[in-house]
Amino acid sequence: MTHRSTNLLTILILIGLVAGALVGEFAHGSTTSVVDGEHWYKVAGDIILIRPLKLLIIPLIFFSVISGITRIGDPSKLGVVGGATLIYYLATMFMAVSLGTVLVTWISPGILPQEVQETLRQTAGSFSAGETATRSLGSAWMNILYQLVPVNILDDMVKVRPLGIIVFAIAFGLALAAGGDKTKTARDLCNACFEGLMILVRWVIWLTPIGVFFLVAWTVEKIGFNSIYGPLGWYMATVLIGLAIHGFIVLPLVLYLFSRKNPFTFMWQMKRALMTAVGTDSSSATLPVTIDSAEGEGGCSKRAANFVLPLGATINMDGTALYEAVAVVFLFQLFGIQLEFGQLVIVVITATLAAIGAAGIPSAGLVTMVIVISAVNTNLTGSPNGPLPVAAIGIIIGVDRILDMCRTAVNVWGDAVGAKIITRIAPDDPLESA
Ligand code: ASP
Repeated sequence: MTHRSTNLLTILILIGLVAGALVGEFAHGSTTSVVDGEHWYKVAGDIILIRPLKLLIIPLIFFSVISGITRIGDPSKLGVVGGATLIYYLATMFMAVSLGTVLVTWISPGILPQEVQETLRQTAGSFSAGETATRSLGSAWMNILYQLVPVNILDDMVKVRPLGIIVFAIAFGLALAAGGDKTKTARDLCNACFEGLMILVRWVIWLTPIGVFFLVAWTVEKIGFNSIYGPLGWYMATVLIGLAIHGFIVLPLVLYLFSRKNPFTFMWQMKRALMTAVGTDSSSATLPVTIDSAEGEGGCSKRAANFVLPLGATINMDGTALYEAVAVVFLFQLFGIQLEFGQLVIVVITATLAAIGAAGIPSAGLVTMVIVISAVNTNLTGSPNGPLPVAAIGIIIGVDRILDMCRTAVNVWGDAVGAKIITRIAPDDPLESA
């Protein structure tokens, strides 16, 4: 994409975001017109942007990972790149989740006057029956393990389960790289398919401004900015402060330490992807834009980006990990349950696992949060107020979309920083990148 068209697109996406928020706020509380049970803004956003992007996700993940692996080629180099990538994902998620846990314990947004706590808790009743979550830490591991060992790659493709597809693509990519001359045609074919898909991505990306406009208008129309001032305000503030510290301080520091590049220049170069993440609430749907920006303006190597970004969109979720920790501790505080150090450690571990297991789709973090609540519940021996009912999640559902926009942007930013760092270990051949 040329410099001029990139700038134009960025401006258009920004206009889409701002105009969507204004239109949504203006329409907030008015009678809504519904198509097929959904607000028409959402239907329009889905048709214009989300569905075309989703259409690209599976083929893009498949060919991008194979092409990344075969480009790296040398198995020992692959080991180094793979190892560094995994260490990066785990270390940054752990930093995010620890930051969230410290902040929520310190700010204590759930320790409110008794009557306010009571009103909020009543919201829980409207979410689902008073079922209690008591699944163990084991289910967090099993959730990931099942996804990691696929049995039917086509089934994973049909059900859009990226982790299984990535595992297969890594294995197949390794085999194609090991095959030497015998598998050269297949390697070239996969690389060519990847390039073709990226051309398609660049066409679809022009739909982003309009799609983002409708999706943001829908979110703001539904929630309204005034929810920010309610008793949930401090909870939202805690999540947002945590995301800001992680996105503007921690990750830039990590990037600077490991690549010596100016992190804010790189953040600016990745702006299209970050804004698309805010607009779509989905790191998977943003993946095509993330790859395009990282390999274009961001100056990441294809070897690094093709491998780090698809895997990152699926398992590396710093924003989600931080958010899950804050949300769970907040809910426990609201129900009068103060977590002890050991229980906070369980929150840190399970929130990281729950974030790894969460799909890169809207509200996925809200769903996998049940795992974190369950793990803490099974450790609440003898607490007079516990365990926490799953229905408590109903309290934070209303404001989740706004937080989802921000945590998805941090998730995508974390992936991009990873790709930039790994570019140092795996640069493209000068001939290849020319
Ligand atoms: N929406 C997030 C993402 O796609 C996942 C989540 O936290 O709900 O990255």
